[in-house]
Amino acid sequence: MSAADGASAIPALVASARARFRSGATRPLRWRLDQLDGVARFFGEREREILEALHEDLGKPSIEAYGAELSFVANDLAHVRKHLGGWMRAEKVRLPLVARPGSSEVRREPLGVVLIIAPWNYPFQLLMAPLVAALAAGNAAVLKPSEVSRHTSALFARLLPRYLDAQAVRVVEGGVPETTALLAERFDHVFYTGGGRVGRIVMRAAAEHLTPVTLELGGKSPCIVHRSADLDVAARRIAWGKFFNAGQTCVAPDYVLVDERVHDALVHRLVATVRSFYGDDPETSPDYARIVNVQHHRRLMGLLGEGQVLCGGTGDEATRYLAPTILRDVPPSAPVMEEEIFGPILPVVAVSDVNAALRFVNARPHPLALYVFAGDAAVQEQVLEGTSSGGAVVNHCMLHLAVPDLPFGGVGESGMGSYHGRWGFETFSHRRGVLKKPTRIDPPIMYPPFSRLAKAVLRRLL
Ligand code: NAD
Repeated sequence: MSAADGASAIPALVASARARFRSGATRPLRWRLDQLDGVARFFGEREREILEALHEDLGKPSIEAYGAELSFVANDLAHVRKHLGGWMRAEKVRLPLVARPGSSEVRREPLGVVLIIAPWNYPFQLLMAPLVAALAAGNAAVLKPSEVSRHTSALFARLLPRYLDAQAVRVVEGGVPETTALLAERFDHVFYTGGGRVGRIVMRAAAEHLTPVTLELGGKSPCIVHRSADLDVAARRIAWGKFFNAGQTCVAPDYVLVDERVHDALVHRLVATVRSFYGDDPETSPDYARIVNVQHHRRLMGLLGEGQVLCGGTGDEATRYLAPTILRDVPPSAPVMEEEIFGPILPVVAVSDVNAALRFVNARPHPLALYVFAGDAAVQEQVLEGTSSGGAVVNHCMLHLAVPDLPFGGVGESGMGSYHGRWGFETFSHRRGVLKKPTRIDPPIMYPPFSRLAKAVLRRLL
């Protein structure tokens, strides 16, 4: 459904997806595998158009788009496809004496019709990866791509239904009015990725129907660099994580807290790394993305102003270019240290030691990711034990997303619930506890009236 169809078409569209779910067609393994194969064919046959749309939306370098969008989802899909039969198998559990004889098991059942709302920064991955999980779990799905990444959104609406059960999987294009109309409908799960402000709107709307939600939000993901870190590697990996997709990544390192004894050595290496990645003029680099739109460009330029600019600090609104920027001596009260940056600006803050870094992190909401660079294993553990975050990586950035068996999601203000691999299948499944009893044996001692003997026996049994 395109935005031109208007929000009024939404109730009928959701009802049709629900009718398809109720028919039972989406439950069998065969249907699920067919849908996953359809998604895989969509990638395979439409790769060029997908990469073009991503380039038009975000100037995504093709290798970034291929790695973080297409192949990322393809790998997750292959993993899910391989294990799905096993995950769907009912899980036997032991019976306590009181429930014997009998058998009991946990069944994973589809939830029904789920709503997936995606943001613009990885417009392909963040719609497709939840869809893979929802289909694997046997659900019908309504998809709402972000209107901000409009080329990718239009591509989904035009092409995706051709590869899938077009009644069970619906694409709704549009912005606030369409999303508001969708949220007024009853879904069986809402999976939202985006900022916390809209996350609250989504959760409030879902509460009206007592619909469970997964909220994949953001936040300021810190990088802690200890003096025992390999600084060359740390600088390379932090700069890679930060400037990938021009910093518009929910798990990008937002800022660096570095031991003051190695602060100068690290910033020197970070600046040199930026030059080695993107040359003297990053604007001409084919490996550097653009800011998604003018509003975000203005917001990011507005974050510059406090702290010393070590490199970058310039931009061109017309082309939405913003130079990879490294700042030092930024006061903790500066706006760039208060809101999630979500762009190619990296403030580096010196701290006296690890404890000061932990105090800094723990005085703020739980981030989506936390990165610690340290050679000393005791320091690595001290940081992991002393903080909370959605996920964490030691001595690298962002790569935890590529491990399909790691749950990906936030905690506290960075979100609730998780997905990827089996975790996504679990998110979109209901775990139904089933006990089966034979009727052959039905001791009267279980029922009133209870004699003294019956009570004594039951007290031992229960
Ligand atoms: P966005 O503006 O594209 O919004 C996300 C979705 O919410 C869109 O589909 C949009 O149509 C919808 N929306 C916007 N306003 C709405 C409203 N008033 N009512 C209902 N729906 C509405 O994306 P964004 O929020 O700018 O995304 C950036 C944020 O997302 C950052 O905070 C980032 O960290 C976070 N993020 C998180 C993850 C993750 O996996 N946890 C991934 C990417 C981005």
